[in-house]
Amino acid sequence: MLTMGQVVEHEPMGNEDQKLRRLVLKGPIAQSARPGQFVAIQVQDSARASLDPLLRRPISIAEISPERDEIALLYRIKGRGTEILAQARCGDKLSVMGPLGNGFSLPKEGELWLIAGGIGIFPLYALAQSALVQELKVRLFWGGENQSFLESAGLLRWQNMELPMYLSTVDGSLGVKGLVIEQVREELLMLFDRSQLEDDMRKKKINVAACGPKRMMKAVTELCGGFQVPVEVSLEERMGCAVGACLGCVCTLLNKAGRPIHKKVCVDGPVFRGEEVVWDETC
Ligand code: FAD
Repeated sequence: MLTMGQVVEHEPMGNEDQKLRRLVLKGPIAQSARPGQFVAIQVQDSARASLDPLLRRPISIAEISPERDEIALLYRIKGRGTEILAQARCGDKLSVMGPLGNGFSLPKEGELWLIAGGIGIFPLYALAQSALVQELKVRLFWGGENQSFLESAGLLRWQNMELPMYLSTVDGSLGVKGLVIEQVREELLMLFDRSQLEDDMRKKKINVAACGPKRMMKAVTELCGGFQVPVEVSLEERMGCAVGACLGCVCTLLNKAGRPIHKKVCVDGPVFRGEEVVWDETC
């Protein structure tokens, strides 16, 4: 759906060095958006009435408030497009396509483990909220560069959800020093007795949703696969049109027979089962 979103809030998040922004848009997308879906937002410089840059920028829908007709996008200023987007002011109307993509699936019961690397945390917030509404047990594993990053990227809001949280930072300034995967490994080893894996699986019913750097999602997929824990990953390929026409975001997956097939991240994804992704081609 192509629509206009009116900017109702647009603020820096935390430490300015992190270049993070929270953009709240009012419009009809909030009525149908699901966690893990994204929008393709036009970032042209309206003051100069220019068509440059031509391509929209894909940003995940981080918060969904149908009762207020609002969605929030959390993003990092990375290059030219997001720099232009950062200049949008309250009251501006932005052209937004969405909601796009498939989104995460919500298990019916059991535990949902959210595993995030860096700004991969952003699409997981709406998923956590939906899971809690359904009374699923949710745990968060989140790794980032340092304390300043985690705090700027919304740590307090996550703490307010009162979930079990496993934090890690590369420099050890908050949580455990190292990579997020290590804490996931420890928890899995604690929960599952390999000698009675089938039995444990039936009882514990854990599902994982992961978003972050591809190497992290690959490691999560491999680790969880060893415990027969299903994983969904959200791929963030560079995109052109975002509607399946330009083939700019094609990636290789395996079909049920184990044969390689090509899928478009924008329309077939961005969420896929980790085990079907051919990681070596996408890393
Ligand atoms: P450009 O000038 O286009 O690029 C700047 C640099 O970033 C270049 O080095 C370029 O190679 C690199 N880059 C651009 N896009 C990507 C990408 N998709 N993956 C890896 N590197 C890239 N970003 C957020 O901050 N928050 C989100 O919630 C979010 N959700 C996304 C959801 C999806 C489905 C996808 C595909 C991407 C998402 N991104 C998100 C990434 C975001 O789209 C890019 O950062 C943005 O398009 C960069 O545009 P730019 O014009 O600022 O930078």
